[in-house]
Amino acid sequence: MKKIAILGSTGSIGTQTVDILPSIEAEVVALTTNRRIGLLEEQARALHPKMVCAFDENAAKELRVKLADTDIEVLTGMDGLIACASESGADIVVTAVVGMVGLLPTLAAIDAGKDIALANKETLVCAGDIVMRRARECGAEIVPVDSEHSAIFQCLTGREGELHKILLTGSGGPFRGWTREQTRDVTPEMAVRHPNWSMGAKISVDSATMMNKGLEFIEAMHLFGVTPDDIQVLIHPESVVHSMVELLDGTVIAQLGVPDMGLPIQYALTYPERKPSRSDRLDFTAYPGGLHFYAPDLEALPCLALAMQCARTGGTAPTVMNAANEVAVHLFLDHKIGYHSIYESVAAAVDAITPAAA
Ligand code: NDP
Ligand code: MG
Repeated sequence: MKKIAILGSTGSIGTQTVDILPSIEAEVVALTTNRRIGLLEEQARALHPKMVCAFDENAAKELRVKLADTDIEVLTGMDGLIACASESGADIVVTAVVGMVGLLPTLAAIDAGKDIALANKETLVCAGDIVMRRARECGAEIVPVDSEHSAIFQCLTGREGELHKILLTGSGGPFRGWTREQTRDVTPEMAVRHPNWSMGAKISVDSATMMNKGLEFIEAMHLFGVTPDDIQVLIHPESVVHSMVELLDGTVIAQLGVPDMGLPIQYALTYPERKPSRSDRLDFTAYPGGLHFYAPDLEALPCLALAMQCARTGGTAPTVMNAANEVAVHLFLDHKIGYHSIYESVAAAVDAITPAAA
């Protein structure tokens, strides 16, 4: 039975990971949250992990009281996250925290020889060279959870040396087809409403600005060892083709399925095996209007263009971009800056800092 640590178990990916546990044979050894201790307590009582962590210190104090009648160790802060990643006895660590706070626990898990089911894309965007090098050195397998990267991973399995190009698909988010001017007054409430996927607030805003596709562009470079020229972004509004690979001879292989994160999460946890899932099945007759693909309008989507530019610059350019984006998205969600200020402040940060080698 695989032993699993779930970092960020109270979030969108974390709760969906907990939901698919009955479909796989697994024992949960660690769970973490930032502040949502009510849900963490429920999860801990149901799953009996060895240790849990509430990143926020006050939340951890409260959680310790709540779990006083159990023998579950309650930790806090970065040390707590790192312990859950590396000392809980996990075979595989699901990195489902949001933001670059996931970097150090992911590195600790890799150093401890754990495999990684990687949802936390910011980790690869801000330090992909370091993380992938460390994983190679430690023999840790990184299996992507992000649906596009899971698709590419599945398409490439057994095809060493055959890849010509990655076709990275994206729905285009809630403002697909809007001009830049039309998005000026977008509010956080509008931005977090995604047509096809239900996700945490930060990635929902990233999906609206299409920074998410830019982060995924950089994530794909690191995961699959390719250059920016090897990746083409395609808008695909139906979110049925989760991404494709074009092979050396022009053959294209795609991975398709319903838009349900349960599928890539389960595959990352059962890999290299595949198990039955409770997910809905894809019904091709439900798409009488067909499946559509087109190139993104980079002028209307400056965050995507900026991320692709940072990918080409390399070094710490993506790190700076990611950090600025995390701050800007939080300010936007708190109604402190407008929607267009997200791009403007991230671009200003990238302009202000001379990138160093990674
Ligand atoms: P959520 O915001 O829903 O959940 C994030 C989790 O991380 C929660 O458990 C949260 O705790 C915890 N957390 C937040 N801040 C901190 C912190 N500073 N320290 C420690 N823990 C923290 O995010 P998602 O599940 O949507 O996304 C998680 C990651 O997966 C992101 O990197 C995202 O890009 C990626 N991803 C998500 C997809 C999705 O469908 N949601 C799809 C593909 C990738 P609390 O509950 O207290 O806030
Ligand atoms: Mg994705």
